[in-house]
Amino acid sequence: MKKRRKRLSILGSTGSIGVNTIDVACAFPDRFEIVGLAAGRNIHRLKEQIRRVRPRCVAVCDEETSRALEKMLSADAQAVEILWGEEGLCRVASLNEVDMVVSAIVGAAGLMPTLAAVEAGKDIALANKETLVIAGELVTRRLKAAGGRLLPVDSEHSAIFQALQGNSPAAVKRLLLTASGGPFFGKNPRELASVTPQAALRHPNWSMGPKITIDSATLMNKGLEVIEAHWLFDVPVDAVVVHIHPESIVHSMVEYVDGSVIAQLGVPDMKIPIAYALAYPERLPVEAPKLDLFAMKALTFYPPDMDAFPCLGLAYRAARIGGTMPAVLNAANETAVEAFLAGRLGFTDIPRLIARVMDAHETKKADTVERVRQADRWARDTAHALLDGAPALSEPMDHHSNVAGPAAH
Ligand code: NAD
Ligand code: MG
Repeated sequence: MKKRRKRLSILGSTGSIGVNTIDVACAFPDRFEIVGLAAGRNIHRLKEQIRRVRPRCVAVCDEETSRALEKMLSADAQAVEILWGEEGLCRVASLNEVDMVVSAIVGAAGLMPTLAAVEAGKDIALANKETLVIAGELVTRRLKAAGGRLLPVDSEHSAIFQALQGNSPAAVKRLLLTASGGPFFGKNPRELASVTPQAALRHPNWSMGPKITIDSATLMNKGLEVIEAHWLFDVPVDAVVVHIHPESIVHSMVEYVDGSVIAQLGVPDMKIPIAYALAYPERLPVEAPKLDLFAMKALTFYPPDMDAFPCLGLAYRAARIGGTMPAVLNAANETAVEAFLAGRLGFTDIPRLIARVMDAHETKKADTVERVRQADRWARDTAHALLDGAPALSEPMDHHSNVAGPAAH
């Protein structure tokens, strides 16, 4: 008997992950049907996507954008419901007929729609790591209650998830999380001080949205991924150990109690982890370049330079403190990255700003959505206030902010 097609809602459809997801889903029309799309303001791309996949329902970030989209589509005979705002995004994330929600909005804006999908009991293909950083405890608790599954899209977490198949979680010793090192691998703090947004936006191995590309250059992306791994795989943060691996071929590894290490390898192409999440536990014959190990001269691994890239240490520190601190880390980072891209903040001031906001925060429990949202707002306001008095940021960081990395290596 023919299997029913899996029905998808794709949140953040016009972004780097969203576009790749639509390509993967459309390559297997007998397996997937896209019923919902959601995006921010890129209505030109959204219009093309609507014409291509014919969803029943779409959402955009605000009313003005929804009006503009409506106008653009008025010539089309096609019936598509257009929603807007947080409510609209949450609705697309929880449509009755949807089986799986791809969560690929960037940043804290992805939190409420992802939670809506969790509460509706949907399976979630998760790219939006910020959601787990901000509200890991809430999300995992509600997921258990509602019965959906969380399938990682992030390439490292997909690798770990694949390396865990068929093994007992109790036999896991450490998760070895690989990182490309970004465009500034090997640079010292003095060289990093003069880095420009243009240089930081040039990632050597991956093509991604601007925010995660900057996070990759500061290593904050790896810090957020340590916290993401902690929640996804229920391991202590200090059992997640970062390995710089500039070739980006080994996407991460699991070390077991018997000394075995299981790795997942592949070319750096997000279609591979996306396809794994969409079809799990099956595998799809994805169109992507194949890995040629003979063509690789060497695969190399280095410990991260925690002094040159303090964002990684800040993420470990936030995770160890727990409660609302990771939400504060994330919000301060989003504000700092925006300011860096706007030319208002130097590259090495990014961790300084985040550390100052964290130092000023009184950690509370992160057991309700309201509490984490409040911490997020507070951190953005505090970061903006510090940015308005920016000269103070060029002073050295307080010694207690210049934290060391993972305790056990
Ligand atoms: P992107 O900037 O390319 O796309 C972001 C998407 O979110 C766009 O569709 C945008 O319109 C939408 N969006 C932004 N703000 C919104 C709002 N307020 N309301 C509704 N929609 C909004 O980002 P990306 O690189 O695709 O990353 C998306 C997420 O996936 C991030 O959390 C990132 O960390 C994660 N991720 C990305 C990659 C990658 O290769 N790009 C890899 C791993 C994880
Ligand atoms: Mg990643």
